[in-house]
Amino acid sequence: MEFLTQNGSRPGPIGQGTWYLGEDPAAFAEERKALQEGIEQGMTLIDTAEMYGDGAAEELVGSAIQGYDRESLYLVSKVYPFHAGRSNIFHSCRASLRRMRTDYLDLYLLHWRGSVPFAETVDCMEQLKRQGLIRAWGVSNLDTADMRELLAVPDGAHCAANQVLYHLGSRGVEYDLLPYLQQREIPLMAYCPLAQAGRLRRGLFANDTVQDIAFSHNATPAQVLLAFLLARPGVVPIPRTGQVAHTVENADAARLRLTAEELTALDAAFPPPTRKMPLDIQ
Ligand code: NAP
Repeated sequence: MEFLTQNGSRPGPIGQGTWYLGEDPAAFAEERKALQEGIEQGMTLIDTAEMYGDGAAEELVGSAIQGYDRESLYLVSKVYPFHAGRSNIFHSCRASLRRMRTDYLDLYLLHWRGSVPFAETVDCMEQLKRQGLIRAWGVSNLDTADMRELLAVPDGAHCAANQVLYHLGSRGVEYDLLPYLQQREIPLMAYCPLAQAGRLRRGLFANDTVQDIAFSHNATPAQVLLAFLLARPGVVPIPRTGQVAHTVENADAARLRLTAEELTALDAAFPPPTRKMPLDIQ
């Protein structure tokens, strides 16, 4: 249940997000360096979208990857739902490729469900694959019922990932979406894995249990949040940072192994769902 690059190598358990990056010219150089540091540290999966900064994040990625062996990278972008039909998707995909200065995407995601029928989007995605512009396609922000519908359309089962919000303070996907994906060997890309530095869940970084576990591993709360996700099969967190120091910290989280007791303590502090919850969305 892993992502593979074109030459079959693995992009590493943690990827890099890019939302809000590339938008501020004064921060561009540091953000570019942060992404490059991530690549050096094995975070070769980079997630972006045509939506982010109206293409500015894709341009930042395009700038950051210059000089790297393309086959060692795993590049992901997303198409707006209203571009995910026959009349727009081919143009959107080529525009993303141009901004990212590459000739293929490893994974192209439907950003969220819109009014274009799944069957049409899937047919287009399969065409993009045949044209060599993308290696695989997937979806984002789809809950279990949507996934069932998607997998029922022709070639729908070729879906290679579902990217949804998932962090220690928002565990609703564990009720049925994550098991559904795990059973079908479809990776779950966890977005907002740091709850946007705790902004989405006040007190997450300062929580006593998180702090205690971080202290005992000589780690940081952010690393504990990432290690919590990495403890689940098929989950790939994609934290975003514009700071090199945070990139190093996030990459280092891949080494952190939480014990069964620590995971139980986190369950007590942030209980897993006991009923179906609406999909959390940012
Ligand atoms: P996030 O990764 O949970 O949090 C990003 C925030 O955390 C930034 O403010 C960053 O600030 C801070 N941060 C990063 N590393 C840190 C560390 N080690 N210690 C302390 N703070 C740290 O939030 P996100 O960017 O919303 O989500 C991640 C990625 O998922 C996005 O960038 C995007 O690629 C994707 N996403 C997808 C969807 C979708 O609909 N599919 C929605 C949202 C996000 P600094 O820059 O100062 O480090």
